[in-house]
Amino acid sequence: MKSELGDMAMDQTRTMPDDDAPEAVPVPHALVPHLDEIAILLDIDGTLLDLMPTPREVWVPPGLSETLGRLTERTSGALALVSGRSLNDIDLIFAPDVFRAVAGHGAEMRLSVDNEADDVHAPPLDKELKRRLAAIAKLSPGILLEDKGYSLALHYRLAPHAEKAIYESVSLIRADLPNAPIEVLPGKFVCEIKHSGFTKASGVHELMKHEPFKGRRPLFIGDDVTDETVFAIMPDMNGLAFSVGRRAIGVNGHFDAPSDVRAFLARLLDPR
Ligand SMILES: [Mg+2]
Repeated sequence: MKSELGDMAMDQTRTMPDDDAPEAVPVPHALVPHLDEIAILLDIDGTLLDLMPTPREVWVPPGLSETLGRLTERTSGALALVSGRSLNDIDLIFAPDVFRAVAGHGAEMRLSVDNEADDVHAPPLDKELKRRLAAIAKLSPGILLEDKGYSLALHYRLAPHAEKAIYESVSLIRADLPNAPIEVLPGKFVCEIKHSGFTKASGVHELMKHEPFKGRRPLFIGDDVTDETVFAIMPDMNGLAFSVGRRAIGVNGHFDAPSDVRAFLARLLDPR
């Protein structure tokens, strides 16, 4: 990790036992003794997991679930995944493991892994609106439509040429419905249309009011545009923010790739 945290002693000499790690990643030592004081908040795609041609192709590398499980224990449960994916989708990816989560860009929240009934879900998008947005997928066979209920995502990694046409079509629909409470989230080869009124940041803000997160210092790692809302609120919560793949505005440091994030997490458990 590249960090500009002046108060964090960086140890460049450790080697990583996990063969998943391509290189030694310095761990900010100041964080390591404080697993009982921090809440670990992690984006999934492009942060924990490598991006794949389609969102359905991602996979969890060996050892990652165990690392997340152990970090959950060591933080007394204060570990959450923070993703644009639905809770359902997250559970499928990490099955059989279940983690606390802010999902669907804040539309869903799981505060307890014991009781599914406690999960919070935002209301679904209007059906007619969804139907019109879904029709955009017909612009090109490479556009994949993902209906999350409260939002709709158009993935075009397989049809990058369609980007302009997708955003133009979405703009036309929005112009037609000026009062619809929706917003467009641009991501990496994805255009997502969701209810306005919640974001990853609003989800994290809410999450941090509840046990076991309450009173802890959040440490958030994310890679994409939608994670910037969370980077922005970290200073208010005395939190730490790290980006992946690039140095985002307002972060304390950044990782080159998801493999570096995984190595960093493994070493939080075992700094020596
Ligand atoms: Mg991401």
